[in-house]
Amino acid sequence: MPKKTAVITGAAGFIGSHLSQRLVGEGFYVIALDNLITGHIENLSCLRNEKRFTFTKHDVTKFIDIKGRVDCVLHFASLASPEDYLKFPIQTLKAGSLGTHNALGLALAKKAKFLLASTSEVYGDPKEHPQKESYWGHVNPIGVRGCYDESKRFSEAISMAYRRIHKADTRIARIFNTYGPRMCCDDGRVVPNFICQALDNRPLTVYGKGAQTRSFCYIDDLVEGMVRLLNVNFYEPVNLGNPGEFTILELASLVLKLTGSKSKIVRKPLPQDDPRQRRPDITRAKRLLKWQPKIKLEDGLHRTIAWFESRKS
Ligand code: UDP
Repeated sequence: MPKKTAVITGAAGFIGSHLSQRLVGEGFYVIALDNLITGHIENLSCLRNEKRFTFTKHDVTKFIDIKGRVDCVLHFASLASPEDYLKFPIQTLKAGSLGTHNALGLALAKKAKFLLASTSEVYGDPKEHPQKESYWGHVNPIGVRGCYDESKRFSEAISMAYRRIHKADTRIARIFNTYGPRMCCDDGRVVPNFICQALDNRPLTVYGKGAQTRSFCYIDDLVEGMVRLLNVNFYEPVNLGNPGEFTILELASLVLKLTGSKSKIVRKPLPQDDPRQRRPDITRAKRLLKWQPKIKLEDGLHRTIAWFESRKS
């Protein structure tokens, strides 16, 4: 039986690189694409000498030309941190729109499975809590986060259109806040921000009152859910995330406790349209994928802190 080939866009990013490693480990040939606007080639260094892995610097908003057989296309290319997509709103919109169109085109041409990395941001500042896949969301299309939220809503819409019109074999994962090794100290997201601030004895920057909530999923749990989703035949969106819900202040205290840091907490203004609450309802994933996260926030933070510490020494 020949090995399967997977094309992963955004493969040098945080989630894309872990997924690449996992699929190579499962025996796939992985063709990794990334334009490195926010991804880092070092994230893929563990695969450098792997025969079943190739990397090409490519911008997915341009036509994707792959020779030979492709069994799966996993579209993970996007700017994903609010700070990054505020800096590059047009590239964010293009990755979600043109990029998804090109990735779907590749999947269709190769008769490959397609998996879209969508996001809990499609729910915006949700009025329903926790969020089920049936909820349509509460998004400000013209606000500063609109570039990301609407690009992902478009990417879901075009995936469904390709399914309906071209019978493309699509899947949609709605990814909730995920954290772990290979995030960047300066990427602006709350977990790496707090850990790096704590390790450097700088103040932890809590935006607003810190009463807003998020649910944090450790990367290994997320990748497990993603692989299971790839292996089922189900085209409606599936929430992947950890239903444990914490305020940002609770997260700050936990990071201070686990690092033993003496850092203070400072308040900064709450960014525009920052969602007040977020927690996935994962009933569908539990039933369909027999999946639920196993790693508690404290344990995942331990591992992530250890990784950041090892990079400093
Ligand atoms: N946040 C914070 N301090 C930081 C970075 C983020 O208080 O240094 C807050 C942010 O306002 C948001 C939450 O943490 O309410 C999660 O932010 P992140 O950028 O990680 O992801 P989001 O879920 O907003 O996309």
